[in-house]
Amino acid sequence: MVASAVKHVVILGAGFGGLELASRLSGALADEVRVTLIDQNEGFTFGFSKLDILFGGVDAASVQIPYRELAKPSVEFRQERISRIDPAARHVTTDGGSYDADILVVALGANYDIAATPGFAEGGQEYYSIAGAERMRDVLPAFEGGTILIGVLAQPYKCPPAPFEGAFLLHDQLVERGIREQTEIRVIAPMSAPVPVTPEVSKRFLDELEARGIEYLAQQRVVELDVPSKEAVLESGERLPYDLFVGIPVHCVPAVVAESGLAENGWVTVDRGTLMTPFPDVYAVGDVVGIPMAKAGVFAENAAGVVADDIVARLRGETSERRYEGRGNCFIEFGGGRVGKIEANFLGGPSPTAEIVGPSVDLATDKRTFAPIRRARWFGEAPA
Ligand SMILES: Cc1cc2nc3c(=O)[nH]c(=O)nc-3n(C[C@H](O)[C@H](O)[C@H](O)COP(=O)(O)OP(=O)(O)OC[C@H]3O[C@@H](n4cnc5c(N)ncnc54)[C@H](O)[C@@H]3O)c2cc1C
Repeated sequence: MVASAVKHVVILGAGFGGLELASRLSGALADEVRVTLIDQNEGFTFGFSKLDILFGGVDAASVQIPYRELAKPSVEFRQERISRIDPAARHVTTDGGSYDADILVVALGANYDIAATPGFAEGGQEYYSIAGAERMRDVLPAFEGGTILIGVLAQPYKCPPAPFEGAFLLHDQLVERGIREQTEIRVIAPMSAPVPVTPEVSKRFLDELEARGIEYLAQQRVVELDVPSKEAVLESGERLPYDLFVGIPVHCVPAVVAESGLAENGWVTVDRGTLMTPFPDVYAVGDVVGIPMAKAGVFAENAAGVVADDIVARLRGETSERRYEGRGNCFIEFGGGRVGKIEANFLGGPSPTAEIVGPSVDLATDKRTFAPIRRARWFGEAPA
């Protein structure tokens, strides 16, 4: 690390991982670091807010937290688009300038490769982006029954339970509209079981799907939509008819990460314990990282805590003993106002562990505190 008094930490991406890291560094090292936090967006939106946009009658603006509210000592937010990352030089170029970092952290998340599935852009719906959730919300009222096919188009994808949450909430909406009986819902996915982290968690999902008459087609992948005939083409060549196709898009690293040489195997390579890339003083956290485990905000947050501890220890001439555990508790919407929680730990033991709690109405109340707690921690009190 360069020997100068105040270290410049540049964090690329102000999502779950970037915001958590900026907040931790501000709290622990405000006098010893200068943090530049860069994101192309005007504000942060929680992943689960996309379900609220799709089913909960909220608009995108009301669930976005503007970055201008960020008031953390020693943290400067820049709304800029990152166009180049040179990890060897720790030099970053954006549409607004360029930055030299003592410590660089890549927290740019995962993007969607819609074009990887021919016909999907023209003939399918998705709710993994805000724009997609708004489009699908507007399309649903015209659906009058038939077959809804929900397809996970590739692994890995964000928030493993989210396709099933979508199915449960869609079921509720169709019941409410009185058209569930004339609708068949099928979920088709490459995984052998819905949430393969443990058989118990998957069984719970399979039971909940079955209770609603939703079919789960395992280990099958939709590779193309034949839009004129309204058929999904599977890897095997088989075709499945649909009236409404909802896809969980193929995920990829943002182009700027692919071009940086950090993601030679598709996702950013890191040391699993410290989250350091092969480039000195360049870390990566969150969905952008290539650790074989679930991608979710709570894991990005856990990773940011590990990197914060490592940076603090190193600046004090110490060594952090903390290793990344891939730990987090994820809330899951089961419909009917009930929420469940998966408590997962992917890397802390000899094999991944996960337990499911609920679903219950009490957990729905707990979930309502998730966003406000983080908003307060990440954004701080806005100046009067
Ligand atoms: C429907 C749905 C439900 C979900 N529910 C949950 C849930 O209940 N719990 C949970 O923990 N997770 C949930 N997730 C997943 C969660 O949203 C992500 O896993 C999490 O946001 C990942 O955090 P991250 O910091 O790695 O990336 P992100 O939060 O995606 O942040 C990356 C940031 O990088 C920025 N960026 C990318 N490229 C550039 C560029 N070139 N220039 C500038 N900025 C750039 C983006 O604008 C973005 O703000 C859900 C996701 C979806 C889609």
